[in-house]
Amino acid sequence: MVDTTAPAPRIAGAPEEFQLAFEQAPIGIALVSPDGRFLWVNDALSRICGYDTEALLRLTFQDITHPDDLDADLAQVEAMIRGEITAYSMEKRYLHARGHEVPIQLDVSMVRRVDGSPRYFISHVQDISERQATIDALASAHEALRVSQQRFAALVERSTDIICIIDEQGCIAYHSPAAERLLGYAPGTWLGTPFTAVVHPEDQAELNETFRRLVLEPSLIPLAEVRVTTVDGLWRHVEISATNRLADPAVRGIVANVRDVTDRAEAATRLAWQAFHDSLTGLPNRALLADRLGHAVERARRVGDLTALLFLDLDRFKLVNDSMGHEAGDLLLVEVASRLERTVRAGDSVARLGGDEFVILVESVSETDEVSALAERIGEVVAAPIELPQGMVTVTASIGIAYDSGRGPEHLLRDADTALYRAKEKGRNRFHVFTESLRTAALRRMTAEQELRDALERGRIEVHYQPIVDLAGGTIAAVEALLRVRTEDGGLALPGEYIEVADESGLIVPVGAAVLDQACAALAGWRAASASSPGHVAVNVSARELGSPGFTDRVLASLDRHHLGASDLVLEFTEATVIGADRATLRAVDWLHRRGVGLSIDDFGTGYSSLAYLKRFPIRSVKLDRTFVGGLGVDPSDAEIVRAVVTLGRSLRLEVVAEGIETLDQLQSLQDLGCDFGQGFLLGHPLAADELRFDGPVLPIIPRRT
Ligand code: C2E
Ligand code: MG
Ligand code: MG
Repeated sequence: MVDTTAPAPRIAGAPEEFQLAFEQAPIGIALVSPDGRFLWVNDALSRICGYDTEALLRLTFQDITHPDDLDADLAQVEAMIRGEITAYSMEKRYLHARGHEVPIQLDVSMVRRVDGSPRYFISHVQDISERQATIDALASAHEALRVSQQRFAALVERSTDIICIIDEQGCIAYHSPAAERLLGYAPGTWLGTPFTAVVHPEDQAELNETFRRLVLEPSLIPLAEVRVTTVDGLWRHVEISATNRLADPAVRGIVANVRDVTDRAEAATRLAWQAFHDSLTGLPNRALLADRLGHAVERARRVGDLTALLFLDLDRFKLVNDSMGHEAGDLLLVEVASRLERTVRAGDSVARLGGDEFVILVESVSETDEVSALAERIGEVVAAPIELPQGMVTVTASIGIAYDSGRGPEHLLRDADTALYRAKEKGRNRFHVFTESLRTAALRRMTAEQELRDALERGRIEVHYQPIVDLAGGTIAAVEALLRVRTEDGGLALPGEYIEVADESGLIVPVGAAVLDQACAALAGWRAASASSPGHVAVNVSARELGSPGFTDRVLASLDRHHLGASDLVLEFTEATVIGADRATLRAVDWLHRRGVGLSIDDFGTGYSSLAYLKRFPIRSVKLDRTFVGGLGVDPSDAEIVRAVVTLGRSLRLEVVAEGIETLDQLQSLQDLGCDFGQGFLLGHPLAADELRFDGPVLPIIPRRT
């Protein structure tokens, strides 16, 4: 029996083994007096609360209990002393000797004396720090899960994308509220229905196939773009991405994320349309035409019929643009486009290549007559007056026709273009059918352009000079600069075919600049070398050159560079240039004239120009075309023309220069008619600058009739 008055380091009377079992028990055990003093403690309790046995035996359980837990414990102790309970268990906290809290599980029972009064308590103490930590961790994990679930739900519910869960059979098991926002379907509408129910019929097969593959291969993350219908029956484009979560017990389905991409899809469609259509007329453009042409040619080859291409260009469309404005020009093009579409057969394509160029692709042709008839009809339809807000206009069309010759679609377009060129040359408002000889001519033009380009790059642009002779005095009054092209093989080519291609390609601008500068250099050279040198140098300029930006600057720069005055230069251009001159050209010409540069009309008499036109230009001289000179003594009317021009020149104070004098008879006739100046092989061939001589008698002795 243990006496309550004395500490009990040992459990008195207990057998040794029993004592040991208590001392070494893995849980804390204490005998505690009714007022709370520790009477006996084992090692485990010392470890739990951090006090050694000695120290503990000087303490009460109240000393090492967390103040917040003390009341609850005392209440139980008192209840037990009063005999209301025989044992109690609780979780509470000890204050460890080092200051921290130790959560414990406490189980207390009481030993009473024979008379029933309390003798001591037996306390069993378990350190539940670890268990507590686990519980805390579980609680916080639970909380985290709850938050994440809430967040996930919020995401799904509020997402602008529709989120669907689809079961293995392809029926919708869940869809998020976005289905209503995006497509107008109330929550739950889709439940149990096949997911393709709202998908466009044309997109269903592919989507079903994708779904089937995803079910079989869960690792796939397919992306599909389909059209779906809204409640109101409109189509929206959506992008669907899906993941297979059939194996996930929390989902058991295919999760599909449906995003509205209508804006993007429509923009893409618009872009694609724009890439293949002309925005003004809505007609197919060059790219789409090329595509259709390729198919047409292939088809014709299989079937054994013909494909024809009509290349159409409006005549003088530029005039409408310039005189009535671009808006009128645009309206005109739109009207022509619609007339063309109404004129062709259903299977034919009308395309616009740009500007006033249209192409009509005619398939399944069995007779070429059909195509010629179509060209005729198009000519008439286009020529019917067009009413624009700016006024009534009439335009005509030139048309080139080519048939597929088995050389491929790209040749067809080029051939039709070549034929068009010929139709224009023949005087516009007509059609022309491509032939082999046209191809040869076109090829020649292409070669000429390349040769000219090479010549420019390699400094092989040369200039020859032909004397212009004062027919009364017999001296060289001036020279005309004439372009020569040194070919790769060392030959010297005449300008003939080059001038035309240079004009078309724009090469005329650098070529003309080179001629002008060499001409100025030559005149300066002659001036420096001899007292008798030509009064001026005449340089030919084309309309395109004259109207090109910076032309006047280039003229002045060349004159300056070679220390010449403006009157040392005469510019020659044809009547056609005068007739077609736009404002910019007229301004340039007027400006040059006021600076003192001479202006001369070349090939006069061939261009149907009227005096009215001539009056637009401040002209110094006219050069009578050599056809009239050639007719002198042959065709009496030519003599009359020469006489008229000379008379005209006198009264308008213009110098008259006769071109192409080859015989003495021609020379004498011109002298008789009182022509001022002459030029021709008889008087001197065009020569290189250093071959020309100006000193001494320069002309053959001209026997002058008296
Ligand atoms: P054009 O301005 O009428 O030049 C006269 C042409 O007649 C020159 O031909 C000349 O060699 C040739 N010719 C001269 N006398 C006679 C003759 O007695 N009989 C015959 N049958 N022909 C004669 P070319 O040099 O072949 O030049 C041809 C045309 O090329 C020139 O005609 C001119 O319009 C143009 N051209 C020449 N050089 C240039 C240039 O630098 N720029 C531009 N834009 N055109 C040029
Ligand atoms: Mg000339
Ligand atoms: Mg001429």
